Amino acid sequence: MRKTLLAALLAALLPAVAGAASQNYRVDHMDPPLWWTGMHNSKLQLMVHGPQIADMEPALSYPGVRIASVARVENRNYLFIDLEIAPDAAPGKLDLSFKRGAQAIHYSYQLLAREAGSAQRVGFNSSDAIYQVMPDRFANGDPTNDSVAGYADKLNRAEGGGRHGGDIQGMIDHLDYVAGMGFTQLWPTPLLESNMPAFSYHGYAATDHYRIDPRYGSNEAFRKLSAQAKARGIGVIQDVVLNHIGSKHWWMQDLPTLDWLTYQGKPVTTAHHRVALQDPYASEEDKRNFTQGWFSPHMPDLNQANPFVANYLIQNSIWWIEYAGLSGLRVDTYGYSNSAFLTRWSGAVMAEYPKLNLVGEEWSPLIPVVAHWQQDKQNFDGYVSHMPSMMDFPLNDALRRALLASDDSEQGLNALYETVSQDYLYPNPGNLVLFEGNHDLSRLYSALEEDQDLFRMALAFVATMPRIPQFYTGTEIQMPSTVKVRDDASYRRDFPGGWAGDKVNAFTGAGLTQQQADAQAYVRKLFNWRKRATVIHNGKLMHYGPEKSTYVYFRYSDGKKVMVALNKNKTETTLPTARFHEMLGSSRSGVDVISGQRVSLDGQVKLPARSALILEIE
Ligand code: CA
Repeated sequence: MRKTLLAALLAALLPAVAGAASQNYRVDHMDPPLWWTGMHNSKLQLMVHGPQIADMEPALSYPGVRIASVARVENRNYLFIDLEIAPDAAPGKLDLSFKRGAQAIHYSYQLLAREAGSAQRVGFNSSDAIYQVMPDRFANGDPTNDSVAGYADKLNRAEGGGRHGGDIQGMIDHLDYVAGMGFTQLWPTPLLESNMPAFSYHGYAATDHYRIDPRYGSNEAFRKLSAQAKARGIGVIQDVVLNHIGSKHWWMQDLPTLDWLTYQGKPVTTAHHRVALQDPYASEEDKRNFTQGWFSPHMPDLNQANPFVANYLIQNSIWWIEYAGLSGLRVDTYGYSNSAFLTRWSGAVMAEYPKLNLVGEEWSPLIPVVAHWQQDKQNFDGYVSHMPSMMDFPLNDALRRALLASDDSEQGLNALYETVSQDYLYPNPGNLVLFEGNHDLSRLYSALEEDQDLFRMALAFVATMPRIPQFYTGTEIQMPSTVKVRDDASYRRDFPGGWAGDKVNAFTGAGLTQQQADAQAYVRKLFNWRKRATVIHNGKLMHYGPEKSTYVYFRYSDGKKVMVALNKNKTETTLPTARFHEMLGSSRSGVDVISGQRVSLDGQVKLPARSALILEIE
């Protein structure tokens, strides 16, 4: 009996003893999975993950590439290898070996040649118009990937929070539609793997930073989307989340360090006090909570004060730009990340691509809060940012409110005019992205109480301000939503025509009501006109304080002028033109860019009731 017990004990112990003697070493993750020669930053930090990999010593022999240093952290399943890549290093495969005694493993690491002109690529700018889509809700180009083994969140079109099956192939299939509408940039919400048990369709909870979600397609499919878009004059903007990950991220099974996440991995939630970052009266507690607090227990907050986390995120952003040939990045929940890290991140990306554009989301109606983040802003606290663009939440908010409000109140068009008058608070207002809507807001058409005229005024304003206009898919056919109660599912309904069997097809126009078809035609006309209207891209702005429920402004540059007049009156309104003499000079007429009709400016101008008149001055 005793002997048996001893034998059993020995049997239980032996595999462990043998395992320690010959650990089954392997590499489970190597991030970034490949890199390029000839980058501005000659350093590359590899994150190597595998059982007890820290036991091993890495080595390589490749002309122009050397291991500068190796770092080990608390978790022995990680190694961080700093490579130095000389400017003259040739592309190729380098043999990265890991050795411990007689044991060795080899990893073939690929260095690619960069695309010609990669570093000097021009990002999205004020000559562009951006079309935003939620890929899961836009078009299902490949029904075979709707549900994928190993991914718990399966197809469920009946649920507003379920996966509906849209994918990258769906976007590829409808690039001609996007281009035909006059748009030149495509912003899909995040496509990275999000293997979350529920609500994975929105994608803002990534579970692998280097993998496109198989329900959207593949890394190669994303590259194909970018290439096919480029062939139609459309750039692709990637949606990036620096602040947090999904709770099912592979890191969560085996965190590299104790401080990989904020609050040592405890889900302390953020109270969203964003102003605390630049409030002279803020407590350190509130400042810390804003950036370190978690969005939700399902979205662990990354601690970018840890240099390995910071390097990982910086390299990941650059990797996708280079790999997929992107024209820019949109950064989610921008200010929630560590501020010093954001300076480093934006500086590093712009150093690699000096002409690229990056736009951050800082969801505040307060201009100073948004302006704080724009490159060249002289902040009172000395904060330096390299972020070229930000989302113009203050002007979106002012626009929606001003159109709805009575002009007898201070909240009407005057409030819109006064918001624009504060553009001096931005170092570069013309590079802000002004949107009519997005996936987090009530639909424009519903927010404007389904008023056809206000709807057109809003779009005309967004298209003609000195900004980069951004449009949310479905607005062109006046898709509705809830307004007073936040309901994401209502903002994110499937685009009609994106699914086989759809009775209405907005891509072809089949089944649209006359009103929808008219709205779509208006958007198509407006943005195709804008595409060629260089004075709107680069011209200056002069505006006139609203009078009689009208707001008039001009865009002008050498030899070109466009006059825009918003008229909220229920009857035709006549304005004397004398007030506009600085802009009109001796001009006596203009051409309505929507109707093509000539409009007299001789002494007075007639503004049709409740309209947005856009005139090219002759
Ligand atoms: Ca699909």
